[in-house]
Amino acid sequence: MPELPEVEALAAFLRENAVGRVIARVDLAAVQAIKTFDPPLSALSGLEVTGAARHGKFLDLDVSGLHLVVHLARAGWLHWREALPPAPPKPGRGPLALRAHLDDGNGFDLTEQGTRKGLAVYVVRSPAEVPGIARLGPDALDVDAERLGALLAGRHGQLKGTLTDQTVLAGIGNAYSDEILHAARLSPFRMADKLTDDELLRLHAALRETLLGALDRQLGQRAATMKGEKRAGLQVHARTGLPCPVCGDTVREVSFADTSLQYCPTCQTGGKPLADRRMSKLLR
Ligand SMILES: [Zn+2]
Repeated sequence: MPELPEVEALAAFLRENAVGRVIARVDLAAVQAIKTFDPPLSALSGLEVTGAARHGKFLDLDVSGLHLVVHLARAGWLHWREALPPAPPKPGRGPLALRAHLDDGNGFDLTEQGTRKGLAVYVVRSPAEVPGIARLGPDALDVDAERLGALLAGRHGQLKGTLTDQTVLAGIGNAYSDEILHAARLSPFRMADKLTDDELLRLHAALRETLLGALDRQLGQRAATMKGEKRAGLQVHARTGLPCPVCGDTVREVSFADTSLQYCPTCQTGGKPLADRRMSKLLR
């Protein structure tokens, strides 16, 4: 899932490549992707793209005061296209959800792989009209250690779930929360409101280092190659069974109904494997 660094890099890419161009036409290929009807998608045609921004994991294209807001969900992506074919795409086939044509013949596709469709597109007069944006907590890169401590103090839950709760802190998802907790040497199951001052400082430093490092790797990449860069920078996320690059221990996994987390026991949990409910259910 694209998280803060990927979406920020996409916004930067669009600022360079789309701002100043006029939207010629927007084709909707996946009807379920559009979540608003007023203003209609066609209202964007003929208007100039004037900005691109990020709110949490939402991408926001400012089109002369109207906003095309996109949440890429789990398997969505934005592909920059040069010389788009003028014929409208066939709806309901393949990964294409939406195609935007710009007046210079270039444009972009929003695509989503897989059968579970979560990609969401909104056309609004203000980004705050999107419910997911209205609920966002402060941006993960905008909080200092003290603010982070205050945000966590009110949360009686595990660190992993708290860091990925967009109403607490905006922009961090499954991958970077694994990476941040690994860099901070903290267990994903630690209670968010029970950190010592030292642990809180470590968490804050790890959060900034992880997100800014990832952003740095992604900026300047073509939109098509960003995802590969993300994978190359990961230490524990999606690396179950591989050696931890810091200590050499084997990266382990905890599975949930529709997601999983990865961690290093030596770096994060005093060498003890965390209980995996799915595994212990199978063993019982
Ligand atoms: Zn380790």
